[in-house]
Amino acid sequence: MRTSEAMMNPIVLNKAVHLLKQSKRPLIISHPRPDGDTIGSTLALRLALVYLGKSPVVACVHPIPEMLSYLPGVKTFVSSIPEDIDPVTPATQHTSGVDLVVAVDMSDLERTGGIYQETRHGQLSLLVIDHHETNDEFGDVNLVDPTAAATALLMAELIEALGITIDTDIATCLLTGIITDTRGLRTTNTTPAVLSFVARMIEAGGDYLSVVQKTLDSVTYWQMRAWGIALNRLQLHNGVAWTTLPIAEKQQLGIEDHADLGFSNFLSRIAEANISVSFLEMNDGTVKVSMRARPGYNVAWIAKELGGGGHRQAAGCSIPGPLSVASERVLPYVFQEAQEKS
Ligand code: 5GP
Ligand code: MN
Repeated sequence: MRTSEAMMNPIVLNKAVHLLKQSKRPLIISHPRPDGDTIGSTLALRLALVYLGKSPVVACVHPIPEMLSYLPGVKTFVSSIPEDIDPVTPATQHTSGVDLVVAVDMSDLERTGGIYQETRHGQLSLLVIDHHETNDEFGDVNLVDPTAAATALLMAELIEALGITIDTDIATCLLTGIITDTRGLRTTNTTPAVLSFVARMIEAGGDYLSVVQKTLDSVTYWQMRAWGIALNRLQLHNGVAWTTLPIAEKQQLGIEDHADLGFSNFLSRIAEANISVSFLEMNDGTVKVSMRARPGYNVAWIAKELGGGGHRQAAGCSIPGPLSVASERVLPYVFQEAQEKS
């Protein structure tokens, strides 16, 4: 008998299964600046649906990071939806059109990064599979459990409810989700059930060693150079560590906007910091804010307040620049949160 890792509402689970079983060509969307959980969970669902004889389309507005290139099916991602797989409508009569939208690991509709378009997809059912506490239940069916350590756990339940046995490839995808979202099984929500889940995925043939080495223990040279530049600007005050990376420096290193530098997780290791924040300037003048909090501190509400979202321990948002304006706007909230607990 296996341990149930995620407490899923059976009625919602049944509705999700029904939607997927009815669909011939679901469009499955991962969030921008994709991480291991959104990509791993999406590719796991894709495989399960392929095994069921369906033709899923997987989409992400940004390229998939090189470190995730080992994932089975990763090359099938598209960054926009070609006309010929536009939804079936009375006007187009496409028989190959997408007939369901699935949003994976995102807390609001904006997080599809523009892949979801009201005019093209508004008439289709929308299934949301997510674990963010800031999730606003934007779907018709919301398989949302903020107590789950990763969307991958919810995806495992869904895949098994679809009658698919988790094989080697699906296990590797799901392992990637749980290992990356718990930063290598180090977050507060790493419960015995999570460890049992990891064991079960390894038993199913998931490539644990590759997942750990490629997602946690591999940083590109240019990524490391960018860390160096940002570390030069590192500041620490009243339990808050923060730094900035201006666009000019990013351009010099050839770092593109969509690259997730993994810098926030690195900053979160500063012993004196209860909260750490990185401010990355983007080409369009906006600033990507990425926050990490130690257990007992909460950055989800700050991100939500600023139009973003996330979890208590890891959250982010995008706000107008320049860097100095963005940091002056965010840091007062962060100092407030850090101070309340100290
Ligand atoms: P990161 O700081 O690594 O970009 O993201 C940390 C967490 O916050 C992830 O769970 C991510 O999905 C979420 N997050 C980051 N940026 C945004 C944003 O702009 N909007 C929303 N809703 N969530 C975000
Ligand atoms: Mn996640």
